Amino acid sequence: MREPILLTPGPLTTSLATKTAMLSDWGSWDGAFNALTADVCRQLVEIAGASDTHVCVPLQGSGTFAVEAAIGNLVPRDGKLLVLVNGAYGKRMARLTEVIGRQVSVYETRDDTPPSPVEVAARLAADPGITHVGVIQCETSTGILNPVAEIADVVATAGRRLIIDAMSAFGALPLDAREVQYDALIASSNKCLEGVPGMGFVIVRHDALQAAEGNSHSLALDLVDQYRYMQKSGQWRFTPPTHVVAAFAAALDQYQAEGGQPARLARYLANYATLCEGLEQLGLRRFLPAELQAPIIVTWHAPAHSGYDFKRFYEAVRARGFVLYPGKLTEVETFRVGCIGAIDHAEIRQAVAAVGEVLAEFGWDV
Ligand SMILES: *Cc1c(COP(=O)(O)O)cnc(C)c1O
Repeated sequence: MREPILLTPGPLTTSLATKTAMLSDWGSWDGAFNALTADVCRQLVEIAGASDTHVCVPLQGSGTFAVEAAIGNLVPRDGKLLVLVNGAYGKRMARLTEVIGRQVSVYETRDDTPPSPVEVAARLAADPGITHVGVIQCETSTGILNPVAEIADVVATAGRRLIIDAMSAFGALPLDAREVQYDALIASSNKCLEGVPGMGFVIVRHDALQAAEGNSHSLALDLVDQYRYMQKSGQWRFTPPTHVVAAFAAALDQYQAEGGQPARLARYLANYATLCEGLEQLGLRRFLPAELQAPIIVTWHAPAHSGYDFKRFYEAVRARGFVLYPGKLTEVETFRVGCIGAIDHAEIRQAVAAVGEVLAEFGWDV
C-alpha cells in the first residue's frame, strides 16, 4: 500500500529523494553541514530575485515563528503595523503583533475579497503613525491571491515598509524583489519548495536588518543575532534542525532540476486544472471565483446533502489513500484540497475518483 497522498498545504507529500536525505546524522559544528545551510540560504535569496539587496535568515520552528520574528525585529518598539486581513493567517499576524506589544491596526475584508490598494493608501495617509504594512500573498485559509505588487507600490509611495507572508506561495507564484519592493518576505521549508517541516526563513533587506538591532522582543527569535552569529561562525545559533536542512537542500536540488519557479507553477497549475475539472464534474462548487483563486489550495462548498459530515468524508477518502483538509470558514460549510507537494495530475485524478466514489457510497448528491 502506498502512503496516503497529502492534499494539504504543508506538511505535504515529499519525494523519496527528499525523505532519503534525512537518513544521515549531521553535527551542528560540521563544516559540511554549515556549507549546506549557506547553500540553502543562497538559493532562497536567488529564488526571491533578491541577491543584490536582501539576505536570508533561517529560523528553527514552523512558519509562524518566522513571521513573529520578522515583525518583532523589523517593526520598532514604537512602530505600528497595518495588517491586511482576509483570513486566518492575516488574523494570526495581527494577533501576534499585539501579543509582542507592537501597535497594530487592521484593515479587514471578507474571506472572498482582496484588500483594495486605494483603501490601503487612504489608511496610510490618515495615520502617519503606521510604519509598516503586513500582507499575506496567498491566504491559505481560502486560497485567495492578494494583490501584493499593487500594495507594495502604494506602501513604497507612502514611504512605509512592507512585510509579506509568502508562506504558501514562495517558489511557485512569481514575486521578484527587483520588481516588488519589500523589507521582508517570510516562507518555510514545507510548502511550495516541498521540503519537510521544521524551519522558516526571512528574506530581509540588508539595510533593514542592520537597522533592526535592539528591536527584538525575544531572544530566541532575534533575527539580527541569528544572522550575525551565522555570518561569523557559519553555524546556527542554538540547535539546528539538521535533518530538515538536509531534506530542504535535496528538495531545492529537485526544484532547480525541475526548472525552478516557472516549472513548479506549471505543475501546480496542471494539478489545479485537473482538480477543478474533476470535482466540478462531480457537481461540487468552488467557494472563490476563478480570478481570485491561486493554484495552491482550493476551497470547495461541502455537498449540500443533510447527511454530510466532514469527519466521515475525510475518513472515507483517507481510506482510499488521500488526505483532504477541513474548511476554515465560519459562515459556510467547506473543505479544502491542496494542489501542492511532490504530486502531479495523475495523483489528483486518482483523488477525484476517490471523492466521487465516496459521494456515491454515502449518497451525498451535490
Ligand atoms: C502555513 C502558513 C503559515 C505558517 O503556519 P505554520 O503552521 O506556523 O507553519 C503562515 N502563513 C501562511 C499564509 C501559511 O500558509
